[in-house]
Amino acid sequence: MAFIEVTDLTKTYGASLDALHQVSFTVEKGEWIAVMGPSGSGKSTLLNVLGGLDAASTGRVVLDGQEILCLSANELARFRAEKIGFVFQQFHLVPYLTALENVMLAQYFHSLADEREAAEALGRVGLGDRLQHLPSQLSGGEQQRVCVARALINQPNLILADEPTGNLDEVNETLVMGLLTELHRAGHTLVLVTHDPEIGRMAERRIELHHGRLTEVSAFPAHEEELIDDLLKAVWHAQEDTAHSVLEPDALPEFARNRATFLLMAQEGLVRLEDTALSFAPRGQARAQHVIRRHRLSERLFYETFGLDKDLLDEHAGKIEHSLSPEVTQKICTFLHHPETCPHGSPIPRGACCGKA
Ligand code: ADP
Ligand code: MG
Repeated sequence: MAFIEVTDLTKTYGASLDALHQVSFTVEKGEWIAVMGPSGSGKSTLLNVLGGLDAASTGRVVLDGQEILCLSANELARFRAEKIGFVFQQFHLVPYLTALENVMLAQYFHSLADEREAAEALGRVGLGDRLQHLPSQLSGGEQQRVCVARALINQPNLILADEPTGNLDEVNETLVMGLLTELHRAGHTLVLVTHDPEIGRMAERRIELHHGRLTEVSAFPAHEEELIDDLLKAVWHAQEDTAHSVLEPDALPEFARNRATFLLMAQEGLVRLEDTALSFAPRGQARAQHVIRRHRLSERLFYETFGLDKDLLDEHAGKIEHSLSPEVTQKICTFLHHPETCPHGSPIPRGACCGKA
């Protein structure tokens, strides 16, 4: 069983607005997952439901084996204090308590407040000399670091952070992200809401919300995503070379070197894999088509626009093909007048922009 299991979560406000709609995903212990999506897409709602701060309309959240939506208010408060540390964009510090007292307050809900422990936690976030300051006497970055100290004082398994750097300047953003990275390295599970792709990339995995729906779950860390792109390309090339859509896996050199990854790809619905038959599943086919398109358009761009040597095209296109957004890809395609082939003569899969041309 996963550390967090979210099943068919729906949260309805008023008569009709689904802030979350049938959201399902799992998080493993020790994982760092980013919840991304535009403003109003339901990120905060999801985090609040995960942390038991808000109740879902329907669906299940099982956290560390405990179905949280079944707990009474008292049980939930205790569960939260023991298991979860929160960091919010708005710091939510008590204005008339010192930094030290704000951290001790979180301990108080847990068991007994221990001043030495609270001071140590503040020391760990670099605020050992600010214990007696009120929130109003601290900068935004310092206040957020008090929040991180408060979140980790009870040694929670799970840290839920909602746009924790949303109100910080760059220096303090780096400091706070550094602290969260350390917590993740120390084994804490981290669910981090952000709309910032830079911060999202620091996570091992990203899920994306759009209008309350989970639209994308990438199951692999970024470097594995690139490997998967490359393997999908290899399957595509083999299909082109053999003119067969079903391949003999052992005839593909990449298969022998990446068996485990191919198994994962089959589990994720990217390829179909049997003993003697390897082919694309629809999702893998679509993704491969996009990678091939980005690769061959990049080759064309380097060849025509920069006059790069033909022998170098493949290598250089391979470097940028993973990072081209759909918009940029479309711009390159339009700029090159929707070319039909790469400089080596292989067909470039058509994109949405080509139809309009
Ligand atoms: P995000 O954090 O991604 O910006 P939210 O989870 O805060 O999005 O909000 C998702 C949607 O739910 C938005 O349309 C928002 O207006 C609505 N919403 C959030 N909280 C409430 C509430 N308490 N009452 C009514 N609507 C709400
Ligand atoms: Mg929000």
